Amino acid sequence: MFRRFEDVAYELPEFGRKVIRALEDAGFEAWAVGGWVRDALLDAPSHDVDVTTSAHWRDAEKILASCGYAVHRTGAAHGTITAVVEGEPVEVTTYRVEGDYTDHRHPDEVRFVDDIRLDLARRDFTVNAIAYHPERGILDPFDGRGDLGRGLIRAVGDPRRRFEEDALRVLRAVRFACRLGFDIEPQTQQALLECADGLEDIASERIGQELDGIVRTGRMGWALMNEAEVLGEAIPELAAMAGFDQHSPYHAYDVLEHTARVCMAVEEFTGGMASPALRWAALLHDVAKPVTFTQDDAGQGHFFGHPKVGAPMCEKIMRRLALPGELVAPTRTLVRLHDHYVKPTRRSVRRTLLKFENACPGRAEALTFALLDLKRADAVSKVDRVAGYAVELDKISAVLRRVIADGEAFRMTDLAVSGRDVMEATGIRPGPGVGMILRELLLCVVNGELPNDRDTLLRSLRV
Ligand code: ATP
Ligand code: MG
Repeated sequence: MFRRFEDVAYELPEFGRKVIRALEDAGFEAWAVGGWVRDALLDAPSHDVDVTTSAHWRDAEKILASCGYAVHRTGAAHGTITAVVEGEPVEVTTYRVEGDYTDHRHPDEVRFVDDIRLDLARRDFTVNAIAYHPERGILDPFDGRGDLGRGLIRAVGDPRRRFEEDALRVLRAVRFACRLGFDIEPQTQQALLECADGLEDIASERIGQELDGIVRTGRMGWALMNEAEVLGEAIPELAAMAGFDQHSPYHAYDVLEHTARVCMAVEEFTGGMASPALRWAALLHDVAKPVTFTQDDAGQGHFFGHPKVGAPMCEKIMRRLALPGELVAPTRTLVRLHDHYVKPTRRSVRRTLLKFENACPGRAEALTFALLDLKRADAVSKVDRVAGYAVELDKISAVLRRVIADGEAFRMTDLAVSGRDVMEATGIRPGPGVGMILRELLLCVVNGELPNDRDTLLRSLRV
């Protein structure tokens, strides 16, 4: 797997070169650094180019503005400005080192320096501490390329110290391991475990961003199996799932391992293209199991009502992590419906579509497909005997496709009558009553009690 940079065909994009050239023409030094360099070495160059420079940000600002680029002070306090070149934002940061971190999250001071090696040394992982210059080539003092070749996430310097400085790095390590499919180097891993409790001091929205980053790699299953302690610090509700014996003939695994398997299975069933809501729902679908657990006289475990209890728990967790409402609402609904009984009949499928339509207007079709993937993943992650339900789910998917193809009604706008029709037929004035009647009609149509036919629906209003 090891490759040398010379093997890589990618060139730094012109907008990045222009920034470097402008700064160097003015007598400073500048390099591309971080994600773009790492990803280019892996043959997968990303779009964002970060530049690091010996120029003080005030000088960088002047130089780049004099070239006609728009420049924004996006983080001037720690030396970062953003120049927009050819419509592309390029972050430019002055070489810097960080002072002491007394609070595990913010350095007490940042100090600008003139040696790029010092700047690379303050970066988190060796694979992120490689600089590249279009003429001078690669600068890699911590053997980041070696670690790229070995597939390892390794802290720059003493891992424990680095995680004590900034505990968010603990989650960043997991995110990069997931994203790149890398292992975490043993000493770095040891420090991860020792320092994960530092996440307590980190703002929850920053934790939310990193967790969402992990979820979006599609490798949360790996993370749960390998980094459960770290994730449990980030979401305490997950810690309660670890080792939780289900005492059930339907379950071969504890709640956490079952969840990890569901996360992996949704990727399998979607070809690695699961939506963020489905991925989050896979992670949190059984989050209420520990709090709803009961045992009957025979000792069998039950989790009555866990989807209903889990839905608000899921919402609370995601809100705490400051995740956006458009992600929270569908995730919560998938968690609530994950055990909802769907039959391979048009009526049952329409009823499910209606539930999603009510909870997340306009997203019912995609979410119903997501629900079936979640159910399929759930079924194959229990005991073999339950896995046969996946066949039933294939039938339900086929019915869902037919219901959609035939344009069957499950939204208010699908109804053959409008609010105006309702008012004319009943003499009701505009107001909430009209909506109530329309909802009632829609329910009748979805349930197959009335055909979606204008005359029949209007007639039903007149009796
Ligand atoms: P991505 O593709 O996810 O953006 P990236 O490597 O560019 O990956 P960023 O979060 O954009 O990650 O950070 C850019 C660079 O800044 C990193 O490559 C790393 O060198 C450095 N960096 C970012 N956050 C930290 C941190 N908390 N501690 C140390 N270095 C960091
Ligand atoms: Mg980046």
